Amino acid sequence: MSHEFIADEIEDINRATIYRILNQFCEDGLAHKVIVENGKQFFALCRNCGTEDHHHNHLHFQCKKCNQVECFKSEVNISLPEGYRVENFNGLVSGLCNNCLAA
Ligand SMILES: [Zn+2]
Ligand SMILES: [Zn+2]
Ligand SMILES: [Zn+2]
Repeated sequence: MSHEFIADEIEDINRATIYRILNQFCEDGLAHKVIVENGKQFFALCRNCGTEDHHHNHLHFQCKKCNQVECFKSEVNISLPEGYRVENFNGLVSGLCNNCLAA
């Protein structure tokens, strides 16, 4: 077994473990998932969701330059036709963040 192989193996185990923990956080309401344009998943901590008015219908912003993903606090009003119910909202906006624009 080469040294590289062991390193790869460990990294894979860690990734799977971290992924499982993060998914558990989501189920426990401690974190929420953000799926971005390339299908990659990001996790955001729910303490950013606001404590008294906890909602996940907010926009996520992905910066094309630094790839940073962030949560926007303000709630998005989703109006669906009669008889529909929202269970998940994955609103992603991409562009340039204020840091990259200022640079
Ligand atoms: Zn939340
Ligand atoms: Zn940026
Ligand atoms: Zn969020």
